[in-house]
Amino acid sequence: MLLVDVHCHLTDKQINAKEVVERAKKAGVKVIITNGTNYEDNLKVLELSKQFDIVKPALGLYPLDAVGLSFENGELIKGSVDVEKVLKQIELGKPIAIGEVGIDFKWSRDYDNEQIEVFQKIIKLAEKMNKPLIVHSRNAEKECIDLLENTKTKVVMHCFGGNKKLVKRCIDNKFYFSIPPIINKLMHFHMVTELCPLSKLLTETDSPWLSPYQDKLNEPAFVLECLKEISNIKKITIEECSNQIFKNFNDLF
Ligand SMILES: [Zn+2]
Repeated sequence: MLLVDVHCHLTDKQINAKEVVERAKKAGVKVIITNGTNYEDNLKVLELSKQFDIVKPALGLYPLDAVGLSFENGELIKGSVDVEKVLKQIELGKPIAIGEVGIDFKWSRDYDNEQIEVFQKIIKLAEKMNKPLIVHSRNAEKECIDLLENTKTKVVMHCFGGNKKLVKRCIDNKFYFSIPPIINKLMHFHMVTELCPLSKLLTETDSPWLSPYQDKLNEPAFVLECLKEISNIKKITIEECSNQIFKNFNDLF
């Protein structure tokens, strides 16, 4: 089978990349797009993509990192960030996509405009580079769509949490949705999968986060769980589903 994970974080400290990539290969994963979240993380992403043939780099600037926010001992701290330096790095790094990027209003509403400004710059860069955007839109789904609606760049909505109306807006704009394995627990992703045409669906894990299993970290091999659910919803075999999603991946990237 041809499996693909378009969004994960193999650079995370909790992950043993070598073991995880081996298990992914055994499961039939042909491509893993590991996503960067800031300058240092992007460097590690590039390193991993050189080390493992199936790992492809997406370089990005996570919405919190984009305004210098980080968590220290569970507390949100405001530091500084050199956005231009990261944009240059993204451009020179020749990534397969630009991600993880977007807007996140969950943790603070004090930097909304700043987040939006940086995201606008990133969208412009994606247009210039003609690369797809992998978008994080937590609690800011409408704002993200508003900004992306007029872009010619291809868009992947990762783990999209918006309501039916917003899902339909994404579909009207020909955005892709990447569906995580936690679809086995969250009916929300059933709704997204039902509404979205099969030709616009992708599979992701967001590993090590959002594990479909209570006792295990998430990893790219688990995209098989997404395929099981998507094929059920779309009433096709797992093989047909994986072939179509792999085709979608090739169309997009
Ligand atoms: Zn992510």
